[in-house]
Amino acid sequence: MIDKPDSQGKIAIYPGSFDPVHLGHIDIAHRAAAVFDHVVVAVFDRPSKSLRFNTEDRVRLFQQGLKRDNIEVIPYSGLTIDLARKVGARAILRGLRATSDFEYEYQMTTMNRHLEPTIEAVFLMTSLEYAYLSSSIIKEVAAQGAPLEGLVPEHVASALRGEAHDR
Ligand code: ADP
Repeated sequence: MIDKPDSQGKIAIYPGSFDPVHLGHIDIAHRAAAVFDHVVVAVFDRPSKSLRFNTEDRVRLFQQGLKRDNIEVIPYSGLTIDLARKVGARAILRGLRATSDFEYEYQMTTMNRHLEPTIEAVFLMTSLEYAYLSSSIIKEVAAQGAPLEGLVPEHVASALRGEAHDR
């Protein structure tokens, strides 16, 4: 027999630093939004790496790149699993590029499962064209003034060039 859907539908959270969001992240969020009823993109406020954009900007830049209305973007701090519980998520979603992502994700998933066995980890493969993209490589090429077309949305390219943008 088929399960009845939850009253709010199936929710997934997609956590990350998103410093800044690029087309690979947006691709994963849109793919997830076609599978889940609601996707909460969760922008971690204090990752253990130096940031180019503050939390508010990282949230806004992601929001401005979205085309579906069942995706929302929020900031968060603390444990991802606590946020997942708070929003009633059934799954924590992560994007996978290459096998190099696997080991870290495996470790995180094992820890999250230890903390909360009822919330699943779901991995989506990126489109091939974005498989080489990372926020850090984008920041490096942006710092050298290289063109950013095909890597990030135009409003993110402007932000990386330090241009004023609509709030
Ligand atoms: P972090 O894991 O340090 O927060 P990011 O904010 O860049 O790193 O990534 C957030 C999520 O998006 C992670 O699941 C990451 O694997 C995924 N991701 C990053 N780059 C890509 C890409 N090019 N294609 C698909 N998923 C990606």
